[in-house]
Amino acid sequence: MFKRVLIANRGEIALRIIRACQELGVETVCVYSTADKDAPYLKLADRAICIGPGPAKESYLNIARLIAAAEVTDVDAIHPGYGFLSERPDFSAACRDCKIEFIGPTPEAMQMLGDKVECKKTARAAGVPVFPGSEDAIEDEEEAVRIARDIGYPVIIKASAGGGGRGMKVCHNEATLRNQLRVASQEAQAAFGNGAVFIEKYLEHARHVEIQMLGDKHGDAIYLWERDCSMQRRHQKVIEEAPGPHIDRDKLRKVCESAAKMIRAAKYHGAATCEFLMDGRGDFYMLEVNTRVQVEHPVTELITGIDIVKASIRIAAGERIGVKQSDVQVRGHAIECRINAEDPDKGFRPSAGKIETWQVPGGPGVRLDSHVVPGYVVPPNYDSMIGKLIVHADTRDEALDRMARALREFKVGPIHTTISLHQRLIENTDFRRGGVDIHYLERLLKPQK
Ligand code: ADP
Repeated sequence: MFKRVLIANRGEIALRIIRACQELGVETVCVYSTADKDAPYLKLADRAICIGPGPAKESYLNIARLIAAAEVTDVDAIHPGYGFLSERPDFSAACRDCKIEFIGPTPEAMQMLGDKVECKKTARAAGVPVFPGSEDAIEDEEEAVRIARDIGYPVIIKASAGGGGRGMKVCHNEATLRNQLRVASQEAQAAFGNGAVFIEKYLEHARHVEIQMLGDKHGDAIYLWERDCSMQRRHQKVIEEAPGPHIDRDKLRKVCESAAKMIRAAKYHGAATCEFLMDGRGDFYMLEVNTRVQVEHPVTELITGIDIVKASIRIAAGERIGVKQSDVQVRGHAIECRINAEDPDKGFRPSAGKIETWQVPGGPGVRLDSHVVPGYVVPPNYDSMIGKLIVHADTRDEALDRMARALREFKVGPIHTTISLHQRLIENTDFRRGGVDIHYLERLLKPQK
């Protein structure tokens, strides 16, 4: 096992990694920007080191400074968390060059799965279902038109190097496809330094279902089943749950098995998530693979009893996954609500500032992953998520009731949070019935005329 790990992140995930390291008997070094200098979780780390000013480019996204911090503090490994540099092959490569273990995949595996065209090819070869569409990047307009006629409109143009929901164009007819192709490629070139685009079938009504994977350095991979993350706003997940309601378990099992095959084929080690859209018939189509631990990993931890963050550290240290697929048991139901410092009544305007009241829920089956304490000041520089409230119960109905209860106990002020939105959603009859689609929340929030 490692002696000392550097945590190249902030907020709740930095704290989550500190906790995992402590349970493993590993020392922690947590980096921070000057905007986070008073963050309370820094005191829980064995050491904290400033890596620059507030803007992420000069701190949490600065590879040279992070490597320098790792060398100065003499760590064996770096955990990137999620966001920031977690999916940057050059960061994984820089760690390797400096003989520091990157807690995550190799740059090669990350590169392959991070490129959407390459990833789709790997998926197809392993039998993972993907959207019908072009097999390679589009070389000429006529080819794209031919493929679109074949699969039928609407189609979506995507950048092979795209990410964060950017660079996608939905086309309902040939004329739009023709004039959007060039625009999409130019935008992709400008945004991602790679103009390659491809097209695939666009699904109008879909649910977001993703599969949690773990792979190790000995060539093994297992799946920890699915999470349903269909409740989204602007492609950002708002509520996640596991198991997903009303899913054909036989179809899902087949998809999970082929996803494990894909992870093995990619020689992938660490935690990964294969994201899918699921159509009204219960069929799956892969969107992408996230090559890191996800924000919503706790729901899977609660239903499987497997600590995904500890597993990622053990795997990086060379240990085997240690759990056989047949040992993975799903117990009960878990739901996570992301608590953001935003005002849902004012168009989700960020609500940074000092938190005076922070009265947290507790009791059976309630978990709160948050770095906030009373008096904490939410810096304006970063993501607005200030915590994740997760509940676990025997059944979905009980988990919903438990979440409603926990949300009622949760008092935060004077800043605004999304707690009020979650209260509304947990009581929503469509959500309670299970199986809302990915556009549900946006329709619900649209002002009534
Ligand atoms: P990114 O890497 O930019 O997040 P994704 O491929 O994961 O891109 O797609 C982002 C979102 O766009 C998805 O969560 C989904 O809402 C929508 N989307 C992507 N592809 C399709 C598709 N073929 N049909 C319908 N919606 C899609």
